[in-house]
Amino acid sequence: IICAILFVVYEENNAKTKMMLIYDKLTGCINRAFGMRIIETEIKRAERYSRHLALILLDIDHFKKVNDTFGHMVGDIVLKSIADITKRNVRKSDSIIRIGGEEFLILLPETDVVAAAKVAENIRIVMENHVHPLVGHVTVSCGVSERMPHEKFSYWYLRLDEALYKAKRGGRNKVVVTEDKVSETSDANNLAWKNEWESGNKEIDNQHKNILKLGDKLIAMSISEADNEEIVICFDMLLEDISIHFNYEEKILADLGYMQYEEHANIHKELIVKAKYLRDQYLVGEIKPTDLFSFIVSDVILGHMVSEDVKFFSLVKNKKSD
Ligand code: GH3
Ligand code: MG
Ligand code: MG
Repeated sequence: IICAILFVVYEENNAKTKMMLIYDKLTGCINRAFGMRIIETEIKRAERYSRHLALILLDIDHFKKVNDTFGHMVGDIVLKSIADITKRNVRKSDSIIRIGGEEFLILLPETDVVAAAKVAENIRIVMENHVHPLVGHVTVSCGVSERMPHEKFSYWYLRLDEALYKAKRGGRNKVVVTEDKVSETSDANNLAWKNEWESGNKEIDNQHKNILKLGDKLIAMSISEADNEEIVICFDMLLEDISIHFNYEEKILADLGYMQYEEHANIHKELIVKAKYLRDQYLVGEIKPTDLFSFIVSDVILGHMVSEDVKFFSLVKNKKSD
């Protein structure tokens, strides 16, 4: 009998441990670590069989206010209730993953972007109409995106995050669908180097390539389970390389007598100031790791390297042929 009891207790503990490995305690949704495994598996399947795969990123609107007004415990109840409503409004085959405090990813296999947008819109409307007994109405915003062929999770997530950001900026209680950018290079996996970025100076090109590579690493980390410290180390490495690169580029431009030298150097200075500010914001938990990455991609790589730097390429190239 003792053996039987011990066995039952053991089995129960085993089951509990298993539950803890998969589900989030407060909401009963799939936890982040396990959710990532499901996503990777589904991506592989979608890739192998060329199937549709969609994601919804859902974030509760002004949730801080709920906590501040009614207290954290009430906040928890609302959070749980929003998770429950979401569960009732998706299919069994969909996975709801709690990826952050009040942020959820809904993974929809065999679903294209149009169908996923309908699911998100339906959830948004149900939330809008629901009255929480203690706090009244609470709305949510959603980003919706379908995975592109060959697209890695990190890049897919970035597009999704941008859609959510637009929904928030557009006034919240909104669903925004990502524009499907058909990838020109068929390589959606990397921040791929493009020929038009060749500056004519080998060293500048190498430094640009290195920044792209580190940017790639940062995005992979900002989505994975990497801890804060690793992410800050990677960001600092990027910042260091970017500073060295800016100094080098300024020296070259000064030597060449580049007309917009001052202007260009000022942009560099502002980018470094912004980078340091974002780093501090990240350290105090004000922004997410993906925000650091967005800055590197949008401000430094696309905004600066691609649109500002190209202005001096002809100068560098002409000097060489002199
Ligand atoms: P926004 O509309 O821009 O999303 O505003 P927000 O206030 O929801 O956004 P923000 O991301 O700045 O704040 C999220 C808040 O969610 C901050 C945090 O206190 C709260 N939160 C995160 N996790 C939990 C939790 O497990 N329980 C409770 N009660 N609150 C949480
Ligand atoms: Mg929120
Ligand atoms: Mg949030």
